[in-house]
Amino acid sequence: MNASAVFQLIPEYINCPKCGNDQIGNGEGKLIVSRDMFIRSCKCGFKITLDQNGKEINITKNLYRLNDDGVAEWVVAETKQQAFEFADEIWGGIGRDEYLKEFLEDNPGATFEDFIDYFVVEEDMERLHTFFKDNGDRETKTVREWLDEVTEVPSYFGCSDY
Ligand SMILES: [Zn+2]
Repeated sequence: MNASAVFQLIPEYINCPKCGNDQIGNGEGKLIVSRDMFIRSCKCGFKITLDQNGKEINITKNLYRLNDDGVAEWVVAETKQQAFEFADEIWGGIGRDEYLKEFLEDNPGATFEDFIDYFVVEEDMERLHTFFKDNGDRETKTVREWLDEVTEVPSYFGCSDY
């Protein structure tokens, strides 16, 4: 988002509107700015996500695990179908060409919805998950905590180590 929009929002959210806390980091709270979102959260439970015009947005963020039989990959999306379509685009269409075809061969009469249901698994929000960070460190948090930091939906989240 453009800098002037960010500077307009900061004075309003520098102190948590609920409890007045002005700290971020160290578990106190967060201030995340991305291309199209402004997120402010606080340890008191306050959390708001705004778009570039300062309008509150409510996006459903779920973590989905795809291709559990092979190299599992995780995608953040609003729905299972969105997760599959996003991943399939990254894979260059092999999801539709290979995984869907194989599933329909093994399950005659099955529908595309049956396939999505089988192939895309929604992770439990409270489940602990360990992922490698870019610097190679491992970090374990609940799915909900991981999702808190995601600012793009749909987006790629990670893959299993192999
Ligand atoms: Zn607060």
